[in-house]
Amino acid sequence: MEKQPQLLQWLEIDLDALTHNVKALRAHLRAGTRFMAVVKKNAYGHGALAVSRAVLEAGADCLGVHCLEEAQELREGGIPAPILIMGPVLPSQAAVIIKRRLTATVIDKELARALADAGQRLSAVAEVQVKIDSGLNRFGVSPGEAPELINYLFTLPNIKVASLYSHFSSADEPDETPTRLQLERFLKLARLFPQIELLHAANSAAALHFPETHLHMVRVGISLYGFYPSATARKAVPLKPVLSLKTRVVRVHSIKAGEGVSYGLTWTASRDSTVALIPLGYGYGLPRLLSNCGEVLLRGRRAPIRGVVCMDQSIVDVTDIPNVRVGDEVTIIGRQGSEEITAGEIAELARTIHYEVVTRLPAALPRLYLHKEGNEPR
Ligand SMILES: *Cc1c(COP(=O)(O)O)cnc(C)c1O
Repeated sequence: MEKQPQLLQWLEIDLDALTHNVKALRAHLRAGTRFMAVVKKNAYGHGALAVSRAVLEAGADCLGVHCLEEAQELREGGIPAPILIMGPVLPSQAAVIIKRRLTATVIDKELARALADAGQRLSAVAEVQVKIDSGLNRFGVSPGEAPELINYLFTLPNIKVASLYSHFSSADEPDETPTRLQLERFLKLARLFPQIELLHAANSAAALHFPETHLHMVRVGISLYGFYPSATARKAVPLKPVLSLKTRVVRVHSIKAGEGVSYGLTWTASRDSTVALIPLGYGYGLPRLLSNCGEVLLRGRRAPIRGVVCMDQSIVDVTDIPNVRVGDEVTIIGRQGSEEITAGEIAELARTIHYEVVTRLPAALPRLYLHKEGNEPR
């Protein structure tokens, strides 16, 4: 493992684990099923460019992002693969979308018309995908309104309707009814347009648990990064965690029984104690809700967080961990020896989900991309 003594806070991204996950997930699909790697929100905090390069090399067919800015970052980084923008774009962004060879999601006539106009001006064909709202009641066109929109798209010049797609509300829940109902509604609509050859609906949860939702392509996000979509999810595929969040001890000192630590002195030592300061707090993705209840890993052991987590500093109790020194590596998310703290464990304490814990990791944190020669799963 690479040592970077000049860094005080950093992320390590295990590209071999990422490659392993893509291959393990692909192996779970019927041969010929296409694989979209979802790299929105800086690849769920893992770093959009490096992750995109690695997953494409590992066999992903295309990329999915939420907004135009994310797609542009990938193009500027030299990624030529097909990119679907899954969220809304503005009609005024039509020309850029076409020039960058991006695929927009269309749910209304206004954007369709803007893309057709821009396509004519640029003598290029705008490839679009239509998102069907089959029951999530979020972004999409309802099955009732979709036929009119799709038929309208067919009348427009310089537009190619490449795909119909949908998104599940509850594929990570034990109750399978909503998923089955949504799939049924989506396929009923899709049967009206047999000339549209690409249908997709499955996120990670559906890809893992509902083979009948795989259709022509799956869109995998969270599981690329080694996470199961929910705690109850059956572990259908062996996945490896990709990300570690690390810092190092910058001060070790003793306090007397009765003394408190951090703002508000919300924790008071019940015995003479040794505490270590780490230069990482809620501004770096360690939720403030972990004040007085979270733990970190130090010298292979769990050290409890004492007092409140500050913006860029936190204090941990090392009274029971001998020989802690300034410079010692501290793991916030990840493994040290036989101990592991997962994003899921942090999420539970912070009353949220692992998706939020990783996507809140600041883009400005240095990311060290680790991989061995050959890129074989370790
Ligand atoms: C985020 C997203 C996905 C990926 O979801 P995961 O649960 O992370 O696999 C797939 N499709 C759409 C439309 C999304 O917004």
